[in-house]
Amino acid sequence: MESIKIKHQQTDNMEKVRLERITDDELLDLKKALEKKKDSEDFYGILSVLKVLTHKQITLEHLQNTKIGKTISSLTKIEVKGKDSDNEAQNIRQQAESLIERWRKVSKMEKNKKIEQKPESKPEPKPAQAQGIVTDSNHSSAGNGSARQGLFIPLGLKIHTGTGYRDAMIKKFIELMQVPPDEDNYNEDQLDCAAHLGNNIEKELFNKFPNIKEYQDKARSLVFNLKDSRNPELRVSLMQGILNPTQLVTMDPKEMASSQLKEQRDKIIKDNLNSRRTDWHLENAAAKGNVGFFTCRKCKSKNTTYFQMQTRGADEPMTNFVTCLDCKNQFKC
Ligand SMILES: [Zn+2]
Repeated sequence: MESIKIKHQQTDNMEKVRLERITDDELLDLKKALEKKKDSEDFYGILSVLKVLTHKQITLEHLQNTKIGKTISSLTKIEVKGKDSDNEAQNIRQQAESLIERWRKVSKMEKNKKIEQKPESKPEPKPAQAQGIVTDSNHSSAGNGSARQGLFIPLGLKIHTGTGYRDAMIKKFIELMQVPPDEDNYNEDQLDCAAHLGNNIEKELFNKFPNIKEYQDKARSLVFNLKDSRNPELRVSLMQGILNPTQLVTMDPKEMASSQLKEQRDKIIKDNLNSRRTDWHLENAAAKGNVGFFTCRKCKSKNTTYFQMQTRGADEPMTNFVTCLDCKNQFKC
C-alpha cells in the first residue's frame, strides 16, 4: 500500500515536469472554446481542445480561478444521437473523465501541501526555536566561546546529502557560522542566513573538491580558520556577503587572514559609499556590497549592504540579506 502510493506520486511529479505552463486567461479561452464547440456539436473540435488540455500543467489555483472543471465534468456525460458520432462521444467522455481524475489528484495534493506549509507562512516573527529545528549538539561553540546550544536549522533547509562525512561537515559549518563575532546573540534572520551559508560552504567545497582526500584537507583548513577567535572577520565577511562561499573555498590561508579581509571589506564599503548617488551599485550588484538599496528597519539608515541567497526552492525568488552599517542590524527580506 505504502509503496504504491509513493510510486504514484513519483509518476505525477515526473508528469508535471513535461507539462506546459498555462495562464488563467489562456485556460479561460480554452474553456470558452469548449463550450462553443459543445453547443455547435463540434465533437472533433472538442476532442482537439481536450487533447491540448492534457498537455497543460493545471494547478489548484487554475481550477479555482477558471472553474474549467465544471465544463469538463459536463463533457463526461455528453450524449449524441447520430450513430456515426457514437465513437467520438465515447472518446470525449473518456478524455474528460481522465482529465477530471488527474486534476482531482492535483488539487488534493496541493491542498495537503498547503496544510503542511501553513505554519511556515505565518507573517508574525517567532522566536528562533519555533521556526526551525534546534538540534542537540555536544560540540562546544567555536570562536569567542559564547555559549550557544545546538544548531538552528531553518525549515526547508535540507542538510542531508546521504553521505555521512558530508552531512557531518554541513552541521559543522552551520555550527561555526552561527557563532556571532561579538557578545551579541544572532537574531532569527541571522541564524537562518548563517545556516544557509554553512550549507552553501559545504556544497561549494564538495563541488570544488569532489575527491575525498582533497575535500577533507580543505575542510580542515576552513574549519580552523572559521573557528579562529582572532579572525571573526572571516565569518563577518561571509555574513555581510562581502565574501561568498564560492570564493571562500578557493582562498588560500593567507587570504583568509583577518587583516587582509578587513582591508578588503573596508575598501568595498568605502567604494560603495562613494558611488551611492549613482546607479553604480545596480550595475555592480553582484560584485560589491550593494550600499543604499535597502533602508534599515531599526534605525532607518540607508547605509546598508545586502546580498542575495537562495533560501527557498530553486524556482522561487532569492532572499535578500541586509546589513546596516550604522547600527549593525541584519535582517532578511
Ligand atoms: Zn540600522
